Amino acid sequence: METLQHWAGGAALKSSGDQRGDVTDPATGEVSRQVAFATEADVAAVVGSARDAWPAWRETSLTERTRILFAFRELLNARADELAAIITAEHGKVLSDAAGEVARGQEVVEFACGIPHLLKGSATENASTGIDVSSIRQPLGVVGIISPFNFPAMVPMWFFPIAIAAGNTVVLKPSEKVPSAAQWLAELWCEAGLPDGVFNVLHGDRTAVDGLLHHPDVKSVSFVGSTPIARYVYETATAAGKRVQALGGAKNHMVVLPDADLDLAADQAVNAGFGSAGERCMAISAVVAVGACGDTLVEKIAARVRGLVTGDGRRGSDMGPLVTRAAQEKVSGYVDAGEAAGASLVVDGRGVSPDADGAGFFVGPTLFDHVGTDMSIYTDEIFGPVLSVLRVDTYDEAVALVNANPYGNGTALFTHDGGAARRFQHEVEVGMVGINVPVPVPMAYYSFGGWKNSLFGDTHAHGTEGVHFFTRGKVVTSRWTDPARRGDSGELDLGFPRNT
Ligand code: NAD
Repeated sequence: METLQHWAGGAALKSSGDQRGDVTDPATGEVSRQVAFATEADVAAVVGSARDAWPAWRETSLTERTRILFAFRELLNARADELAAIITAEHGKVLSDAAGEVARGQEVVEFACGIPHLLKGSATENASTGIDVSSIRQPLGVVGIISPFNFPAMVPMWFFPIAIAAGNTVVLKPSEKVPSAAQWLAELWCEAGLPDGVFNVLHGDRTAVDGLLHHPDVKSVSFVGSTPIARYVYETATAAGKRVQALGGAKNHMVVLPDADLDLAADQAVNAGFGSAGERCMAISAVVAVGACGDTLVEKIAARVRGLVTGDGRRGSDMGPLVTRAAQEKVSGYVDAGEAAGASLVVDGRGVSPDADGAGFFVGPTLFDHVGTDMSIYTDEIFGPVLSVLRVDTYDEAVALVNANPYGNGTALFTHDGGAARRFQHEVEVGMVGINVPVPVPMAYYSFGGWKNSLFGDTHAHGTEGVHFFTRGKVVTSRWTDPARRGDSGELDLGFPRNT
């Protein structure tokens, strides 16, 4: 069976060890290939490739860097379907969803094509007499990106287009469950003309991650994954002196007020709850129905959920499988626990008959009503197609419930009341807020990031915060004497310089 190797210096790099992981097709349950797991020597070799490429890449003009980014964009547009097919084959999400993921990643490439403008500093003439001041931003060096399984292309693309455009070199450690998209992207960069060693891929598990967190040549770490690992990455890499942005897990609430368009709310709850089989950090997993709308809303959601087709993502199904057998078992276990805890199981996805061949990792869409805040289906991030409806009497109770949750990634309010919407966006303690929009993922030119246990670090992903993360500021204060006055400064003065 083929083994996917690391990518360094513009070519595959065979692992020095023999540890491997299986990569599965979640719709059939079959092992499709294996992926090498990095040894410490592999980490050194891949980081070394990025370090060696940095001096020349840093000196490469913005014009040339931008040309390569444009070439990458054009190639990706022409071949996006190939990447979407790879994502579906390893993650399981349906093809249209995979294509959407590629498109959202491409938006960051397009944003990064504007890097000459984004990197522009400022200049002040005559800040003090005869003294000028200017500010510039410079790249960090080798930057590490560690990504989760649920967006094999988009999440790495939140970071690497900006990192590369700004003059850094990259080591990407993709999830070992979905490693092939990274390899495909590496080859695309080569075709686009990116110099060897600027974009590198290191495969593996904890050894690979720890290697990046501790390596002195890795200057920053951009991590996306579950909250416990995000916290670990943040604490470890900051202790090693690195700049870190570590995006963690989520529990996203959709609050529905009684005046909302309940058909719109039901449509969007289903889209946001079951898209990508609930394996999105911005998935809605808790609907908070306020006041009298609860019964009607649950009926409307249930009717839509019952009509969904679960199956192989290549067959036009609405919803695909979970990523692994372990994920399937974990999600089924949560449904068991919700039932045992006394929540009303309105639609049961266990034992679904999927439109697929083989033994894929399927759980059908599942809907619970009357969920309590002490139940594990509410307290835990299930990361599967399980939507819980909680009932509250008032808007204030709904906001208090959202704000009491330890996560703060995304949230949405459905209402026709502009005043209520304005109050909600002001007082909710969550990083990304949707008003009648269930998955409020910011555009590439804004920044993506949650609050509380959904993000450790100070800087969100992409947008201007992304540009700041991947660059360091420098301020230059300069004096160039007028040729007519040379030798005549008359300024011998040991006092602290004052501006005049
Ligand atoms: P994960 O935390 O298991 O893995 C993320 C990365 O960490 C992978 O590359 C993995 O190989 C590595 N890793 C796993 N265990 C490790 C360990 N013990 N030590 C060091 N590294 C380790 O996450 P996942 O299951 O791949 O992805 C799903 C999670 O990611 C969910 O919690 C989801 O909410 C979160 N997520 C968050 C965002 C966001 O923007 N906040 C976006 C996407 C996914």
